[in-house]
Amino acid sequence: MSCLRDSISQIEPSFQELIEAIEKSSTLTLLIMSAWHLARALAVRIVEEVLTERSQIPTQWPDCPKCGRRLHSKGLVGRQIKSLIGVIHWERRIGRCPHGCKIGQIAPMDDALGLLPNQQTSIELQRLGCLLAIFVPFEIVSTLLSCLTTVKVSSVSIWHWVQNAGQKAMDRLKNELDNLASGQFPQVETLEEAISLLPLLMGSDGVMVPFRPESGKGSTIWREVKVAVLARLGQRKKSNAPQLYQRRLVAVLGDIDALRPRLWLEALRQGVLTAPQVVWLSDGGVGFWGFYTDYLSSFSIGILDFYHAVQNLWKGAQSWLDGRSKKARLWFALARHRLRHGEGNIVLNDISSALKLGGLSETTQKTLRNLYEYLDTHKYHIQYKKFKDLGLPIGSGMVESACKWLIQQRFKGVGMRWSEDGFNHLLHLRLAWVNGRFDDLFFVKEDSPN
Ligand SMILES: [Zn+2]
Repeated sequence: MSCLRDSISQIEPSFQELIEAIEKSSTLTLLIMSAWHLARALAVRIVEEVLTERSQIPTQWPDCPKCGRRLHSKGLVGRQIKSLIGVIHWERRIGRCPHGCKIGQIAPMDDALGLLPNQQTSIELQRLGCLLAIFVPFEIVSTLLSCLTTVKVSSVSIWHWVQNAGQKAMDRLKNELDNLASGQFPQVETLEEAISLLPLLMGSDGVMVPFRPESGKGSTIWREVKVAVLARLGQRKKSNAPQLYQRRLVAVLGDIDALRPRLWLEALRQGVLTAPQVVWLSDGGVGFWGFYTDYLSSFSIGILDFYHAVQNLWKGAQSWLDGRSKKARLWFALARHRLRHGEGNIVLNDISSALKLGGLSETTQKTLRNLYEYLDTHKYHIQYKKFKDLGLPIGSGMVESACKWLIQQRFKGVGMRWSEDGFNHLLHLRLAWVNGRFDDLFFVKEDSPN
């Protein structure tokens, strides 16, 4: 036997069995699995040893919160915690008031270790559970967690972890929004230089999510979640296909007014005021374009999704040339071509002449007038030739797929229905993950309010 294995079993005879299991393992897989068992057992033992040493250090007792007398030791009391490496047991001193005040358990060592009084699992285990819950349902998280760590945690406990961490993410966001409202801008995220020189692409979309009715019974209620994406627009090296870097998402279960400050906050963080070029790319949603007009239009390029514009052209053509479908198709094809090649004004003139012709039904007049207004409102956003020449995308597919991914992948599984709180908590955890702010929720302490 090697020195290392020998000394481990000499120091701790109970590990003898684990070491023998390693030695008996025939295949590499068995060898690794049994060594893993030993590693975990050793890790637990080392942590317990350190905790036991610390519990021997004389305690600095605080004063009784009720009568102010210095607390005395009541002796050692056991505590256990489920952790990434297994269940850890140790003892630490509990204080008592010499005057007999009822003050509950006071354990200075728990405070020093960052433990809450009723905490049963350690933070790194909760972090892992929350991370898995971002991608898979709670029951599966419970199974995966026990595969990965051998620690058994119920799906209900995991659900609670997600509620707590998600609420923390929401509280932080609220704090940042309050700061912004009082004129305090967020810190701009640092970027690699090459990426900081790329245009900032922004866009927004709505995605429907199934909710439970408040009574819990009855049919599913579909509600819209507004999602926005912000990313630096680059190109793949070989194919020159567009590629998004530093992708950040914003989402809210609510209307456009709820989205606006959130989107602006993130835009500031992504350097909207310093990016060499800012591009807004969206379909025809009026609220989204309102955001563009109010926040971005003075210094950025707005692009109306080409396919959305074309869809509206087709609607107009059908209504105008109803019954003459060949003519409708011809006009549509020409108008589409003109639009694509920067001749939107000719298309507008066409529609305006058609309106003057007379003999159109009221419905057709209305459809054509709407089409005219729509294209006229967006006349600066349909300069597709110019956009293509600038190397910018003219379809909002990238925006839409980023937005859909955030919601679709986790919230629209078979039979899934959400409560408002449950949805919001998990949504904000998912956002924290995709935006690179997930670990802060577990390992960075709350800023003290000032
Ligand atoms: Zn007291």
